[in-house]
Order: sequence, then C-alpha cells, then structure tokens
Amino acid sequence: MFDKEREFAITSVRNAAQICRRVQAEISPESLDKKDRSPVTVADFAVQAFISGLLAEAFPEDPLVGEEGADPLRGDEAAPIRAKVVQQVRAACEDDIPEETVLSWIDRGQAPGGPQGRFWVLDPIDGTKGFLRKEQYAIALALIEDGQVQLGVLGCPNLPESMDAGTDADSGYVFVAVHGQGAEAAAMPASAPLGEFGKISVSPSDDPASARRCESVESGHASHDEMAQIAEKAQMTAEPVRLDSQAKYATVARGESVAYLRLSPDASYTEKIWDHAAGAIIVTEAGGVVTDLRGKPLDFAQGRKLTENQGIIATNAALHQRVVDATAAVLGF
Ligand code: AMP
Ligand code: MG
Repeated sequence: MFDKEREFAITSVRNAAQICRRVQAEISPESLDKKDRSPVTVADFAVQAFISGLLAEAFPEDPLVGEEGADPLRGDEAAPIRAKVVQQVRAACEDDIPEETVLSWIDRGQAPGGPQGRFWVLDPIDGTKGFLRKEQYAIALALIEDGQVQLGVLGCPNLPESMDAGTDADSGYVFVAVHGQGAEAAAMPASAPLGEFGKISVSPSDDPASARRCESVESGHASHDEMAQIAEKAQMTAEPVRLDSQAKYATVARGESVAYLRLSPDASYTEKIWDHAAGAIIVTEAGGVVTDLRGKPLDFAQGRKLTENQGIIATNAALHQRVVDATAAVLGF
C-alpha cells in the first residue's frame, strides 16, 4: 500500500533538503549577528512551492495543508525575497517557472484538512531557529486519510548518526513510515545518493533512570522548568537532549531517546498538524506511543490544528504510562 506515495514523498523531501542546504550554505556570520531571518524565509517558501508543485503533478486531486501561504510574498516590499524564492524553485525544478505559478503552488497549501478524504501535510522547514543556527531542522511531509496518518517522511539534513556525534558534511537522515509497515531510516548526505533503508525501532528500556529524553531548544516553545519537574517525578533524571524540530521524534524512533515531551509555556497554544503528523507516525511505527499530555491519542481530523489535544508525549511505549502519570501529577489533571 502507498508505494507510489512513499517513493514520491522520499524523493521530494530529499530534493527539498538540497534547496535547504544550498540556502543554508549562504548564511553568513554577519546575517546571523543581525538576526536576519531572510534565509529561512526563502528556504521555507521555496520548499513549500517545490513540493506543492510536485504534488500537483503527481497527485492532482490531493489537497495540501501546508504551513505557508503566498500573501507575505506579494507586493513591492516583498519583491527582493520573492525573487530569491522564485530563483530557488527554478533551480530545483531545472525549469523557468513563472513567478505567478510559484506563488500559486505555495497557495495550494491552504487546504483546511478535516475528517474526510485524503490530504497531504507539509512543514517545509520545521525548526526555523535551528536552521538559522545551522543545527537541527526538518522537512516534514505526511499523508492523512479520513483523519488517520497513513504515511510520514521526515528529512533531517543535519542529523548526525548519533546525537553524541557532531554534524558534518556527511550528516543527514531521512525517516519514513507507512501505517502498519514499520519505520525505516536511510542516510541522506548532501553530496551522495540516499543510503539503504533499514528498519528502526524504539528503545526497549523500561528503566527511567538510564533513560535520556529530548525537548525543544526554544523555551518559548516548551516550558523547560515544568518538563524538568515532570521528568523528576517520573524519575527520569538524565539531562535532556535539546534539539529543534521534529528531529526529536526521529531520535525517539531510532531508540536514541526514550521520550519527547512538549508542553508549551502558553497554556492556550494549539499544536499544528504539520508539526506532528510525520514525526508521530514514524515513532508509532517504530514501536513507540504518541499522545497528548493527558494520554489522549492525537486527533488529526480536526482541521489544520490539533484542537482536541494539548501538548505532546512521545515515548518508547515502555515508559509511556509513567510519563503520562507524572505529567498528570505535576500539572494537576
Ligand atoms: P521546536 O523545534 O520544538 O522549537 O518547535 C518548533 C515549532 O514550534 C514551530 O514549528 C511552531 O509551529 C511551534 N510553536 C510556535 N510557537 C509555539 C508556542 N508558543 N508553543 C509551542 N509551540 C510553538
Ligand atoms: Mg514547524
């Protein structure tokens, strides 16, 4: 099942990763100093346009729920950034695509999602701050059918073989899962074809003391203090690994961390489906469990946001209930 979709998603995410790498290579120390966000803006829009254009050709009937819309690129003020986006898309497609076509591809991503039918979900660059820091970021593409995630592909262009190893030119992994078929990973280096896919699985450990968890780098996205209290309650005393993007799900899926906890500092924050669809199926198919903070399954049938859920707990399954119970105790559920 989903063989064509799987191949399509892997190839498009891999080629989109090359766009990201090209743009990232141009980030200068000065633009970092100036906190210039334009490189990630260019890569973000270019990747959405590129994958959306490929989707329109391969699966013309399928809507796309993408993070971006083209409005910020319209008008005179946006002309310089628009030109860079168009240039990247043309380079990736090796074709002189008209500007209006590029913008219309981006706007194809404004589908509402919902409970019926099938649609794709795209986060063109998840972890924009990680991208700017030249650390972890991900291209996340998933397919949802009647509210269920059926396929997820996560491209992590800077992810090393292990989080203890440094990122270098050979870094990069792509992860894929199809519902009921397990999860796989392959090396995705910048200057060579994809490696062979091999099955991945979560850590079998049920020992909280030796368990390493992961969390967001940005304290604006996840409340480090409260998550530390939950971890302590669960007796997970090891220092957490901090990394941006859905690469966190990837580290759980390949058994490198046992839990990914996500608790927004803003209690009214609603998670977006493109931040979780691909990562969640990859963890689940690797043998893990993904729920919200109350232990409820994620409900991808509610539209563009996870309106029926709050926060995320993704684990290796063995430690799931322990983390859910500790969360309830600390947050007073
Ligand atoms: P991370 O890489 O874990 O820092 O998460 C990045 C994602 O956090 C982005 O894709 C945003 O959609 C999401 N985000 C933005 N604002 C918040 C917030 N206040 N709370 C939780 N997540 C957020
Ligand atoms: Mg995101």
